[in-house]
Amino acid sequence: MAAPAKTGNLAEVQETLRKAGLRSTSARLAVIQFLRKATRPLSHAEVAAEMSPLGLDKATVFRNLNDLTEAGLLSRSELGDHVWRFELRDEKHSHGGGHPHFLCVDCGSVTCLPDALVSPRLKQKAEAVGRITEILVRGHCRKCVG
Ligand SMILES: [Zn+2]
Ligand SMILES: [Zn+2]
Repeated sequence: MAAPAKTGNLAEVQETLRKAGLRSTSARLAVIQFLRKATRPLSHAEVAAEMSPLGLDKATVFRNLNDLTEAGLLSRSELGDHVWRFELRDEKHSHGGGHPHFLCVDCGSVTCLPDALVSPRLKQKAEAVGRITEILVRGHCRKCVG
């Protein structure tokens, strides 16, 4: 059953924060609304660049990204290039490593891949080895292959 894509409205975001036990500050609302529009995980620098016209400095953005991650609203991934990237956690796959990502080793772009690509059998085998934190595909994106 596919859930319809949600378009972010303020009341919904405030409700999400309330459920997570966080105060809805303007910084948190802005960060979440921005991430709701994103179609790929974004780095702290990318989020901070977007928030700076709103008067939020990098440290504030960083603190809020961490608060939201700790509250379980965001997932944070490090895809082997030492950059933390943040994205909204989707309720459907909030465990077992979430959906896979494709990382281009040339330009560093990251693309979300559907969770359906990960077979239950693969997950089962991997979980027998250890706790999955990230499912990653690395390669050269179409833009870089040219
Ligand atoms: Zn690339
Ligand atoms: Zn993703």
